[in-house]
Amino acid sequence: MSNTLSKVLVLALLVALAACQTTPITGKYAFNVFSEEEDCQMGTEAYGQFTAESTVITTNLGSDGQWKKTVEQVMADLAAVAEDQGFDYEVKLLDEDGTVNAWCLPCGKMAVYTGILPVCQDANGLAVVMGHEIGHAIARHGTQRMSTDSLAQTALELLGNDDYETAGALIYQYAAALPFGRAHELEADHIGLILMARAGYDPREAVNFWTRMDALGSGGSPEWLSTHPSHSSRIDQIQDLMPEALAIYESLQPK
Ligand SMILES: [Zn+2]
Repeated sequence: MSNTLSKVLVLALLVALAACQTTPITGKYAFNVFSEEEDCQMGTEAYGQFTAESTVITTNLGSDGQWKKTVEQVMADLAAVAEDQGFDYEVKLLDEDGTVNAWCLPCGKMAVYTGILPVCQDANGLAVVMGHEIGHAIARHGTQRMSTDSLAQTALELLGNDDYETAGALIYQYAAALPFGRAHELEADHIGLILMARAGYDPREAVNFWTRMDALGSGGSPEWLSTHPSHSSRIDQIQDLMPEALAIYESLQPK
C-alpha cells in the first residue's frame, strides 16, 4: 500500500470515528456528521417557522386550559431527567383536533396536537407520547437520517452560509414530516419508556397507550398511526424493557 493511500485511509477512519456518537440510554452507536450545536440551530429555526404557521393554544382559559398546563408540566418533568445535551426544551400545544400527532425537532422543540389528547387520556399517556418524541431528539434521529443522505452536504453548506431558514426547512422534513424507520421508532420507544419512569410516570401506561392507538387503526399521521413497526412489536419490546423501567419507577415511590 502506498504511503499516500494509507494516510488517506487513516484520515477517512478518523473522520468516521469523529462522526460517531453514542446514543444516551440505549448506548447504540450512530453516524452523524452534524454537531449538537448545528442540531440546535436547525431545530430552533424550523420550530419558529412551523409554529408561526400553526394555531398555538396560548390561554389557560376554557376546556383546553388544563391540557396546556399538563403538557407543559410533563415536558418539564421529562426534560429534568433527560441527559443534558444543551437542549432548550420547549413545547407548544397545536389546535388541530383531527390530527393524531406529535413531534420533537432537534434541540427539544416539541409540538403536541390536540387530536392526540383523547388517546393520551391523562398525564401518564402524555408522558408516553412526549417521552417517545424526546427520544427521537436526544438520539438525534433527524440529523442521523440526514447524515446518510446527499442532502447532508447541502445542509452543512447552508449552515456555513448562515442560511438557517433553508436548513431549518430541510430538518423539518427529516425530523418531523417524514416517517421514521423501524429501528428509530423502537429506539425512541426505549428512551421514552426509561425517561417516563425516571420522571415518575407509570411506565405500564405505555402498553395501555399503544393498545388504545391500535384501536384507532392505521392511516393518518405517519409518526403515530403508521403500522411500521406494528403496534404489537412495539408492545413486545416495551414488555421486555418493563422490569428495568418498573424498577426505576418503583424506586421513586414513597415506601
Ligand atoms: Zn416516533
